[in-house]
Amino acid sequence: MAVQSTGNGSYEPSQVKFPAIKFTKLFINGEFVDSLSGRTFETIDPRTGEAIAKIAEGDKEDVDLAVKAARKAFDHGPWPRFPGSERRRILLKFADLVNENAEELATLDAIDAGKLLHLMRIIDLPLAVDTIRYYAGAADKIHGETLKMSRELQSYTLHEPIGVVGHIIPWNFPSLMFAIKVGPALAAGCTMIVKPAEQTPLSALYYAHLAKLAGIPDGVLNVVPGFGPTAGAAISSHMDINMISFTGSTEIGRRIMQAAATSNLKPVCLELGGKSPLIIFNDADVDKAAEQALQGSFFNKGEICVAGCRVFAQDGIYDQFLLKLKEKAQNWVVGDPLDPNSHHGPQVDKRQYEKVLSHIEQGKKEGATLFYGGKPLDRKGYYIEPTIFIDVKDDMTIAQNEIFGPVMTVFKFKDVEEAIKRANETKYGLAAGIMTNDLNIANTVSRSIRAGAIWINCYFAFDADCPHGGYKMSGFGRDLGMDALKKYLQVKSVTTPIYNSPWL
Ligand code: NAD
Repeated sequence: MAVQSTGNGSYEPSQVKFPAIKFTKLFINGEFVDSLSGRTFETIDPRTGEAIAKIAEGDKEDVDLAVKAARKAFDHGPWPRFPGSERRRILLKFADLVNENAEELATLDAIDAGKLLHLMRIIDLPLAVDTIRYYAGAADKIHGETLKMSRELQSYTLHEPIGVVGHIIPWNFPSLMFAIKVGPALAAGCTMIVKPAEQTPLSALYYAHLAKLAGIPDGVLNVVPGFGPTAGAAISSHMDINMISFTGSTEIGRRIMQAAATSNLKPVCLELGGKSPLIIFNDADVDKAAEQALQGSFFNKGEICVAGCRVFAQDGIYDQFLLKLKEKAQNWVVGDPLDPNSHHGPQVDKRQYEKVLSHIEQGKKEGATLFYGGKPLDRKGYYIEPTIFIDVKDDMTIAQNEIFGPVMTVFKFKDVEEAIKRANETKYGLAAGIMTNDLNIANTVSRSIRAGAIWINCYFAFDADCPHGGYKMSGFGRDLGMDALKKYLQVKSVTTPIYNSPWL
């Protein structure tokens, strides 16, 4: 699926139907319920900083209830026992319902996360639907192997669902992330609790409603919005959760792994932060490369783990590349996420907005040259200009820390060896982009970069069947593709004596 932040001017923002906020409570055992404490929290519209709705705030006791429901559904309910074809049928229905309600889900994420509505319509929601359908198709193809017979024994393996899964997810792709986590876990026959990010609980609760309509039995899918240190921590340390699938920052990933280790040793899958390089060689089409660099850094206002925000341009095209970059940045529109002419909207919340602005100040202080942008927009909400730094040293904070905002750093390099070495000089290893028509360079660089995804002459090219995940401190385990399905399964071997066996 190609990802491009293009304004398309095809509708008036005023024509967008504002969705009624129908689901604000926790979803436990097939019912929308208040939190046991009765507490709520506000979810904020980043376009204005004002509250959209009050959401029930889950805490440890609510997590316990949700896990109890998921445990019961796993140990005694039909979901893990259904033939795969029945899970497939229900998941296809779920995908159809998501598709039918895609406009409402897209609008909810647009106002909750500041994401562009016109892109939610053509990227996030179609990919979410596709992902659920992809795993629906896998549900009846889960099987083990018959093993070689020896010593009059025969063995076979069973691939069984891992049990109750805890999904802890971030705010930057609320709908898509929900589908990516829940799709394979449901297909595998697991039951689960999902904690959406506190910034963006709206679409996850809507998904819960659709799951019930689709016929997913009560207790199989529970959604508990709440904060990280309370609800999130209760999930990662829970003794009755069998596995954690987490997407978020490296710092919190470490805490989750610690909590898993000191509770019941549950396996964890961590999709963490990044600081990905985009390497542009002298033979690349400079205009295309500049467009790719802009998309790579500013798509989704830079709030994307695989942002290609360390841009390396080879010395032969460096000056020309900068000119093109500036020309294109001048046409990059920061505006209301409901406006089809916008290329990016507001940062998700005040904290993130302030964090990005402080990184920009730090870049200036450390001596990098601010080549373009660098300021907040003079309007309500958390809008920041696309920002480009040049004359950046590899060890500067803006070159090393994940900013998670619309900030690009551009570097000049001489040859392939230098590009590889510098591109790898980061603790992260999530993705990398290469712009070249030279097959030898493309092959050499793609094999030498230590990252989970390499895009040659493209960027952000995601698909349901293409695994996504990190090397180094970007985490381990994979989302998407058949690799993701495997992490929700465990392998059991069954052995039996056969005729003439001394065991008989
Ligand atoms: P975050 O780590 O602060 O929060 C992610 C989730 O963890 C949220 O639901 C939060 O409530 C929860 N959480 C926070 N503290 C917790 C705790 N102590 N115990 C349990 N859960 C806790 O990350 P964020 O700011 O929401 O998201 C941005 C980060 O996510 C970036 O670093 C980004 O790179 C990363 N990310 C990675 C991928 C990927 O696929 N690798 C995708 C999207 C985002």
